[in-house]
Amino acid sequence: MTGLYPEFERILLDEASIQQRVAELAQEISADYRGQGSIILITILKGGFMFAADLARRLTIPHYMDFMALSSYGSKSISGAVRILLDMRLDIYNKHVLVVEDIVDTGKTLEYLTVNLNARRPASLKTCVLTRKPGDNRHVTVDYLGFEIPDVWVVGYGLDYAERHRTWPFIAELKPEAYS
Ligand code: 5GP
Repeated sequence: MTGLYPEFERILLDEASIQQRVAELAQEISADYRGQGSIILITILKGGFMFAADLARRLTIPHYMDFMALSSYGSKSISGAVRILLDMRLDIYNKHVLVVEDIVDTGKTLEYLTVNLNARRPASLKTCVLTRKPGDNRHVTVDYLGFEIPDVWVVGYGLDYAERHRTWPFIAELKPEAYS
Protein backbone atom coordinates (compact mmCIF):
# COMPACT_ATOMS: atom_id res chain seq x y z
CA MET A 1 0.00 0.00 0.00
CA THR A 2 2.86 2.38 0.77
CA GLY A 3 3.92 1.94 -2.84
CA LEU A 4 1.07 4.32 -3.61
CA TYR A 5 2.65 6.97 -1.42
CA PRO A 6 6.33 7.49 -2.04
CA GLU A 7 6.43 10.05 0.78
CA PHE A 8 5.84 7.27 3.35
CA GLU A 9 9.06 6.01 4.89
CA ARG A 10 7.29 3.02 6.51
CA ILE A 11 4.20 1.91 8.36
CA LEU A 12 5.07 2.59 11.98
CA LEU A 13 1.93 1.12 13.57
CA ASP A 14 -0.28 -1.20 11.55
CA GLU A 15 -4.04 -1.41 11.94
CA ALA A 16 -4.03 -4.62 14.00
CA SER A 17 -1.47 -3.25 16.49
CA ILE A 18 -3.44 -0.03 16.92
CA GLN A 19 -6.74 -1.86 17.42
CA GLN A 20 -5.17 -4.26 19.90
CA ARG A 21 -3.71 -1.41 21.97
CA VAL A 22 -6.92 0.63 21.83
CA ALA A 23 -8.82 -2.40 23.16
CA GLU A 24 -6.33 -2.73 26.02
CA LEU A 25 -6.61 0.97 26.86
CA ALA A 26 -10.41 0.81 26.83
CA GLN A 27 -10.31 -2.16 29.17
CA GLU A 28 -7.93 -0.39 31.55
CA ILE A 29 -9.96 2.84 31.54
CA SER A 30 -13.24 0.97 32.05
CA ALA A 31 -11.77 -0.90 35.02
CA ASP A 32 -10.34 2.27 36.59
CA TYR A 33 -13.59 4.27 36.38
CA ARG A 34 -15.99 1.42 37.16
CA GLY A 35 -18.58 2.41 39.77
CA GLN A 36 -17.84 6.14 39.46
CA GLY A 37 -20.76 7.07 37.23
CA SER A 38 -20.33 8.64 33.81
CA ILE A 39 -17.16 10.14 32.44
CA ILE A 40 -16.78 12.85 29.81
CA LEU A 41 -14.35 12.14 26.98
CA ILE A 42 -12.99 15.37 25.57
CA THR A 43 -11.47 14.67 22.20
CA ILE A 44 -9.01 17.09 20.69
CA LEU A 45 -9.82 17.72 17.04
CA LYS A 46 -9.03 17.00 14.47
CA GLY A 47 -6.30 14.47 15.16
CA GLY A 48 -8.04 12.59 17.97
CA PHE A 49 -11.28 11.78 16.18
CA MET A 50 -10.49 8.26 14.99
CA PHE A 51 -8.79 7.18 18.20
CA ALA A 52 -11.70 8.54 20.26
CA ALA A 53 -14.29 6.78 18.09
CA ASP A 54 -12.56 3.42 18.44
CA LEU A 55 -11.80 3.89 22.13
CA ALA A 56 -15.33 5.00 23.03
CA ARG A 57 -16.91 2.04 21.26
CA ARG A 58 -14.88 -0.30 23.42
CA LEU A 59 -15.56 1.36 26.77
CA THR A 60 -17.86 -0.58 29.08
CA ILE A 61 -18.61 2.38 31.36
CA PRO A 62 -21.15 5.15 30.68
CA HIS A 63 -19.60 8.11 28.92
CA TYR A 64 -20.38 11.36 27.11
CA MET A 65 -18.49 12.74 24.15
CA ASP A 66 -17.39 16.32 23.63
CA PHE A 67 -14.79 17.99 21.48
CA MET A 68 -12.33 20.85 21.46
CA ALA A 69 -10.12 22.18 18.73
CA LEU A 70 -6.83 23.85 19.52
CA SER A 71 -4.51 25.69 17.24
CA SER A 72 -2.08 23.24 15.75
CA TYR A 73 1.13 23.56 13.83
CA GLY A 74 -0.87 24.51 10.75
CA SER A 75 0.51 22.96 7.61
CA LYS A 76 4.08 23.06 8.83
CA SER A 77 5.80 20.87 11.38
CA ILE A 78 6.92 23.72 13.61
CA SER A 79 5.51 24.30 17.10
CA GLY A 80 3.55 27.49 17.75
CA ALA A 81 1.43 29.08 20.48
CA VAL A 82 -1.65 27.22 21.70
CA ARG A 83 -5.12 28.73 21.28
CA ILE A 84 -8.68 27.39 21.65
CA LEU A 85 -10.40 27.37 18.25
CA LEU A 86 -13.51 25.50 19.37
CA ASP A 87 -14.63 24.99 22.95
CA MET A 88 -16.64 22.07 24.33
CA ARG A 89 -20.36 22.35 25.03
CA LEU A 90 -20.73 20.25 28.18
CA ASP A 91 -20.22 21.63 31.66
CA ILE A 92 -17.42 19.61 33.25
CA TYR A 93 -17.78 21.05 36.76
CA ASN A 94 -17.63 18.15 39.24
CA LYS A 95 -17.47 15.58 36.42
CA HIS A 96 -14.83 12.96 35.67
CA VAL A 97 -13.02 14.10 32.53
CA LEU A 98 -10.71 12.14 30.25
CA VAL A 99 -8.86 14.07 27.55
CA VAL A 100 -8.27 12.04 24.37
CA GLU A 101 -5.30 13.23 22.29
CA ASP A 102 -3.58 11.84 19.24
CA ILE A 103 0.02 12.75 20.00
CA VAL A 104 2.26 14.50 22.51
CA ASP A 105 5.46 16.09 21.29
CA THR A 106 6.67 19.08 23.32
CA GLY A 107 3.70 18.72 25.67
CA LYS A 108 2.71 22.37 25.19
CA THR A 109 -0.78 21.56 23.93
CA LEU A 110 -1.58 19.13 26.73
CA GLU A 111 -0.11 21.42 29.36
CA TYR A 112 -2.23 24.35 28.18
CA LEU A 113 -5.30 22.15 28.07
CA THR A 114 -4.76 20.71 31.54
CA VAL A 115 -4.47 24.17 33.08
CA ASN A 116 -7.52 25.38 31.17
CA LEU A 117 -9.71 22.39 32.06
CA ASN A 118 -8.64 22.28 35.71
CA ALA A 119 -9.83 25.88 36.05
CA ARG A 120 -13.35 24.55 35.30
CA ARG A 121 -13.13 22.38 38.44
CA PRO A 122 -13.82 18.85 37.19
CA ALA A 123 -14.08 16.07 39.79
CA SER A 124 -11.03 14.54 38.14
CA LEU A 125 -8.96 15.09 35.02
CA LYS A 126 -6.93 12.41 33.27
CA THR A 127 -5.30 12.13 29.87
CA CYS A 128 -5.29 9.37 27.28
CA VAL A 129 -2.77 9.81 24.47
CA LEU A 130 -2.24 7.44 21.57
CA THR A 131 1.37 8.30 20.78
CA ARG A 132 4.19 10.09 22.55
CA LYS A 133 7.39 11.37 20.99
CA PRO A 134 10.64 11.45 22.96
CA GLY A 135 10.46 15.26 23.24
CA ASP A 136 10.82 17.38 26.35
CA ASN A 137 7.32 16.48 27.54
CA ARG A 138 7.79 14.71 30.88
CA HIS A 139 6.27 17.70 32.70
CA VAL A 140 2.83 16.69 31.39
CA THR A 141 1.09 13.65 32.82
CA VAL A 142 -0.12 11.01 30.40
CA ASP A 143 -2.31 8.63 32.40
CA TYR A 144 -3.03 6.24 29.54
CA LEU A 145 -0.50 5.92 26.71
CA GLY A 146 -0.83 3.88 23.53
CA PHE A 147 2.67 3.90 22.08
CA GLU A 148 6.04 5.57 22.44
CA ILE A 149 7.16 6.56 18.94
CA PRO A 150 10.37 8.03 17.49
CA ASP A 151 10.81 11.71 16.73
CA VAL A 152 9.50 11.62 13.17
CA TRP A 153 6.43 13.16 11.51
CA VAL A 154 3.60 10.65 11.53
CA VAL A 155 0.32 10.59 9.62
CA GLY A 156 -2.78 8.44 9.49
CA TYR A 157 -5.35 7.32 12.07
CA GLY A 158 -6.47 10.95 12.53
CA LEU A 159 -3.07 12.54 12.08
CA ASP A 160 -2.38 14.67 9.02
CA TYR A 161 0.26 16.51 7.17
CA ALA A 162 -1.27 19.66 5.63
CA GLU A 163 -4.70 17.94 5.97
CA ARG A 164 -3.61 14.88 4.02
CA HIS A 165 -3.47 11.22 5.09
CA ARG A 166 -5.87 11.55 8.08
CA THR A 167 -8.09 8.59 7.34
CA TRP A 168 -5.65 5.73 6.96
CA PRO A 169 -6.35 2.98 9.52
CA PHE A 170 -2.58 2.79 10.24
CA ILE A 171 0.08 5.28 11.29
CA ALA A 172 2.88 5.91 8.80
CA GLU A 173 6.15 7.76 9.10
CA LEU A 174 6.72 10.46 6.50
CA LYS A 175 10.06 10.73 4.81
CA PRO A 176 11.91 13.77 6.25
CA GLU A 177 12.11 15.36 2.80
CA ALA A 178 8.30 15.37 2.68
CA TYR A 179 7.98 17.78 5.63
CA SER A 180 11.27 19.60 6.09
P1 5GP B 1 2.87 19.46 21.34
O1 5GP B 1 2.10 20.65 21.83
O2 5GP B 1 2.90 18.31 22.32
O3 5GP B 1 4.28 19.84 20.89
O4 5GP B 1 2.19 18.98 20.02
C1 5GP B 1 1.01 18.34 20.00
C2 5GP B 1 0.31 18.59 18.68
O5 5GP B 1 1.22 18.72 17.60
C3 5GP B 1 -0.55 17.42 18.33
O6 5GP B 1 -1.85 17.55 18.86
C4 5GP B 1 -0.52 17.43 16.81
O7 5GP B 1 -1.51 18.31 16.33
C5 5GP B 1 0.82 18.03 16.47
N1 5GP B 1 1.84 17.02 16.13
C6 5GP B 1 3.01 16.79 16.77
N2 5GP B 1 3.72 15.83 16.16
C7 5GP B 1 2.99 15.41 15.11
C8 5GP B 1 3.18 14.41 14.08
O8 5GP B 1 4.18 13.67 14.00
N3 5GP B 1 2.18 14.29 13.17
C9 5GP B 1 1.06 15.05 13.20
N4 5GP B 1 0.17 14.85 12.25
N5 5GP B 1 0.84 15.99 14.15
C10 5GP B 1 1.79 16.17 15.10
